[in-house]
Amino acid sequence: MKLCFLLFSFLFIGNCYSQDFDVLVLGTAQDAGSPQAGCTKDCCRDTEKSEPVASIAIASNDQFWIIDATPDFTQQLSMAQQEFPSSKFAGIFLTHAHIGHYTGLMYLGREAMNTDSLPVYCMPRMAEFLRNNGPWSQLVDLGNIKIIEIKNGKSTSLTSSISITPIEVPHRDEFSETVGYIVASQKKKALYVPDIDKWSKWSQSITNYAKMMDILLIDATFFNGDELPNRDMSEIPHPFVVESMKELESLSKTDKSKVHFIHFNHSNPLLKDGAIKQEVESKGFHVSQTGQRL
Ligand SMILES: [Zn+2]
Ligand SMILES: [Zn+2]
Ligand SMILES: [Zn+2]
Repeated sequence: MKLCFLLFSFLFIGNCYSQDFDVLVLGTAQDAGSPQAGCTKDCCRDTEKSEPVASIAIASNDQFWIIDATPDFTQQLSMAQQEFPSSKFAGIFLTHAHIGHYTGLMYLGREAMNTDSLPVYCMPRMAEFLRNNGPWSQLVDLGNIKIIEIKNGKSTSLTSSISITPIEVPHRDEFSETVGYIVASQKKKALYVPDIDKWSKWSQSITNYAKMMDILLIDATFFNGDELPNRDMSEIPHPFVVESMKELESLSKTDKSKVHFIHFNHSNPLLKDGAIKQEVESKGFHVSQTGQRL
């Protein structure tokens, strides 16, 4: 009898201990999606081919969370629910207050889902912004969302064996801080950084992260500096994909294969040009796909 109990405890604890998470890519486009409003060029002419805004779901056995509430939140929540039918939608983690990353919160309000105290995890300035500006403040006042403030570098437990940690990154912080997230279990570590100005402006090293993590989903807004001839690219800095590939050049084949580019501007050829995509893959990196499970 005692032996049975011990065996049961061992199996049960062993199972909890080894609980893992899945990452589901819910969209790969930059904030404005693809096609982008107002673009009449080839990249956006085919309105049949659209790409949802960058977001990921993190799922354990019985719960899932979504990082960022994009303008495509409706279809993305549905995608996550279909992919993880026995898991409950347990909350949203926000990276920052740019349109592609939080405006999907509108679908939680009275006009739509009318959620009850859905946990929304965000940094202090982001929380302040939501509490003090309509229509987001109404979500707080009506109790549709429950804001949970998180701190740079401090972990939140998603389950007994999975944690999530915000890491501040340099970005145009007009209304909020900007963070990326590390999700970690005993078996797996994933880094999600959809927006950052330039790797060189960061106090941390993306190369070191590539060695430490198992999965990296990183900012690939622009492929190179020639993409937007009519815009001053220094006003909207991002690491160009060509720069990131150079930065990560010294990594081993195994470490390079952990890198998945995401958050593509409508002008980025990685969204549609198979040859360029292949060029990136031939260098050992990956180009994220919506619906992909990592
Ligand atoms: Zn963005
Ligand atoms: Zn376009
Ligand atoms: Zn941004």
